[in-house]
Amino acid sequence: MSKIAIITGITGQDGSYLAELLIKKKYVVHGFLRKGKKAGNKKNLWRINKILNKIKLHKIDTSDLKTISRLIKKIRPNEFYHLAAQAYDGYSFDNEFYTFDINLNYTHKILSSVYKANKKAKFFFAGSSEMYSKDIKRKIDENTNFNPKSAYGIAKVASHYLIKNYRDNLNFNASTGILFNHESPRKDEKFVLRKISKSVARIKLGLQKKLHLGNIKSKRDWGHAKDYVDAMWLINQQKVSSDYIIGSGQLNSVETFVKKAFAHVKLDYKKYLKIDKKLLRKKDSKARIANPTKMQKKLGWKRKFDFNSLIVDMVENDLKILKGIK
Ligand code: NDP
Repeated sequence: MSKIAIITGITGQDGSYLAELLIKKKYVVHGFLRKGKKAGNKKNLWRINKILNKIKLHKIDTSDLKTISRLIKKIRPNEFYHLAAQAYDGYSFDNEFYTFDINLNYTHKILSSVYKANKKAKFFFAGSSEMYSKDIKRKIDENTNFNPKSAYGIAKVASHYLIKNYRDNLNFNASTGILFNHESPRKDEKFVLRKISKSVARIKLGLQKKLHLGNIKSKRDWGHAKDYVDAMWLINQQKVSSDYIIGSGQLNSVETFVKKAFAHVKLDYKKYLKIDKKLLRKKDSKARIANPTKMQKKLGWKRKFDFNSLIVDMVENDLKILKGIK
């Protein structure tokens, strides 16, 4: 019999890749959408357009525990992937009540409903490197102390402790994957790497003259989202649940991405890059680096994409979109 999985955040970058992975593995895939105009909107479904006939979507009111519980009980999933979040760390204190509603209270409702519906289900929660302080000099592993500095990070830490308590006190198979930055052709264009890949493609095709950026020295631990959804699935296959750091373990700068992206289309980045002081952040955050050893050694996680292949995938994808091939 096919396994049944539910994904929240299925319209997002990770949710869409995860849905494709689970379909390939012959799961019956359900996705939760938020209620409201945006949810039914075709534009909002662009990442899952090609698999709409292979998944079952449900619009839900994220504040309505009763309905959420009833629906989860009816579907009775074997695996649950809770990825939905107000995912913009930077804005989270401008929007603190909303951030806690989605990133903490909604998590609580989902977790409790899944536990009640199927005590043998496996539950994955998407944590974040924002659960740690920005001043850590060594690589972050599963024993590093949390010290969040945003409403987003605080809500992720609180959700993580909820999940840990269901695991420790109720023996529920629930895990947090603590995700470091990951990108892909499906990343929102508000984020810098996608802005760059799109601009490089546009410049190559003569549609744009310059690429305007702020601090190109800024560094991050970046990976490819496809590898990170593989990790989520691996985590939900374990008999004993635990928490895992999911990251590349390597730092790369925006500047390196720019150089390599232009080099890929045989252009010299110096001719096109313009540093724009208006785009410099008042306080750019320091880089945190993951130590994904537990994920690699215990679960055998291997990344298929390095930084170079991430760049090629993103630029090639934007070229295809602009040429109308995709
Ligand atoms: P996206 O921003 O691409 O997707 C977020 C998803 O959450 C979308 O499906 C979105 O739905 C949904 N969502 C947002 N607000 C609400 C809401 N109010 N009610 C219900 N659903 C909502 O994020 P990613 O796919 O990149 O990230 C997946 C998870 O991983 C998130 O939990 C994020 O915090 C975490 N993470 C991601 C990192 C990254 O680099 N990508 C790094 C660390 C953690 P809609 O389409 O309707 O907006």
